[in-house]
Amino acid sequence: MSGMNVDILVVGGGMTGSAMALGLARQGWSVALVEGAPVGGAIADFSPATAVADFEPRVSAISVASQRLLENLGVWETITARRHCAYQRMAVWDGEGTGRIEFDAAELHAPALGTIVENRSIVRALMLAVQDSGMTLFDGAKVSGWQEQGGQRGVQLDDGRQLSADLVIAADGGNSRMRQWVGLPTREWDYEQQAIVCTVRTAQPHQHTAWQSFSLTGPLAFLPLLNETGDEHFCSIVWSQDTGEARRLMALEDDGFIRELEQAIERQLGPVEKISKRFSFPLRQRHAKDYVRPGFALIGDAAHTIHPLAGQGANLGYGDVRVLLDELGKARRAGLRPDDELMLARYQRRRKGENLAMMAAMEGFKQLFARDELPLRWLRNSGMRWLNGLAPIKNRIAAEAMGLQR
Ligand SMILES: Cc1cc2nc3c(=O)[nH]c(=O)nc-3n(C[C@H](O)[C@H](O)[C@H](O)COP(=O)(O)OP(=O)(O)OC[C@H]3O[C@@H](n4cnc5c(N)ncnc54)[C@H](O)[C@@H]3O)c2cc1C
Repeated sequence: MSGMNVDILVVGGGMTGSAMALGLARQGWSVALVEGAPVGGAIADFSPATAVADFEPRVSAISVASQRLLENLGVWETITARRHCAYQRMAVWDGEGTGRIEFDAAELHAPALGTIVENRSIVRALMLAVQDSGMTLFDGAKVSGWQEQGGQRGVQLDDGRQLSADLVIAADGGNSRMRQWVGLPTREWDYEQQAIVCTVRTAQPHQHTAWQSFSLTGPLAFLPLLNETGDEHFCSIVWSQDTGEARRLMALEDDGFIRELEQAIERQLGPVEKISKRFSFPLRQRHAKDYVRPGFALIGDAAHTIHPLAGQGANLGYGDVRVLLDELGKARRAGLRPDDELMLARYQRRRKGENLAMMAAMEGFKQLFARDELPLRWLRNSGMRWLNGLAPIKNRIAAEAMGLQR
């Protein structure tokens, strides 16, 4: 195969791919990262936020486990040097009934349950470190084809360049072309829901709390944001609704949308004073039946996409990165090749069960709140009240969501 050759090629420089590539370079592998978008946009600094429009609408609730990975990669300091919000409490309630459950970091003897960060802030910190690491970065170039020849795997870029590697890791997102070219099938279905995201300013401070209400048509989250002056009145909204209802909400003028938003969150934070432009994303559950083929591995959304109701998508991707880095680190120390089949099989085994369990839990949760039959409503309300009073079980659930049980 012609063109540049490296040990490991990572395709896709989003939140998972750039973390993966960085970790591999730190382990001493020769690594190349290909990202379709020009990196200049990702590393550009962003100005302080004084208004709702200054925040990026896409944010992630980074778990403590993901935070540790980003700390180990040496980028957490860069991320937290910019605006971010560690949240200490989480309130979840049934918008159709009386059930309510509250989680508190203090009960877990933890400084926070997680941290809300704009996605661009994470990618920026990772891309700055990628540039410093000296690895080869092809940005503004998309992979447009895949080939395999005599134990070598290669890709073609849309500008005609060719690259080959012993191992190719695909982190090219939910619609992964790499997954399709390599022929890894998925189980998938449409949730028939869309997530509406935007930023709001509320009359009352968010108190470093993530607020989430469940209605029959879908969950609504107010995720706390902080600007550079520590103003506690900004929240990122993720409102998942059945497609017809989401379209109706998207078509409303701002005033009408705000009225419905305030009603749906039961004015927990008082009136919504300002709102940014709204965006909507169709929601689809997707899970690759296999994550690996000889010389090939999937990570992040390329392997699985889940409902954003518990904000776990990026955290599952970071779980993949953590385990694949662990396996490749051991392989390197043992003098094995990066495409060692047993090692890749171990990666798949270690991740698949955990990802499937999280996906099943999200599905169960979604179904439980999507039905209005009396027994289910009773189960929801009494179950939430019962759980709220049972500290050990409740804290175990919180620790699981924080990634502390793995
Ligand atoms: C509304 C919403 C809210 C969410 N909230 C949360 C949350 O609170 N917490 C959480 O953990 N997760 C959340 N998620 C999920 C999270 O955003 C995703 O899991 C995460 O962004 C996936 O990252 P990724 O790097 O795997 O994929 P992506 O972010 O999709 O990155 C893929 C990258 O690959 C590049 N690429 C694609 N094709 C090619 C190609 N052919 N050649 C080269 N490059 C290519 C793209 O340019 C992109 O940079 C949410 C998702 C949604 C929809």
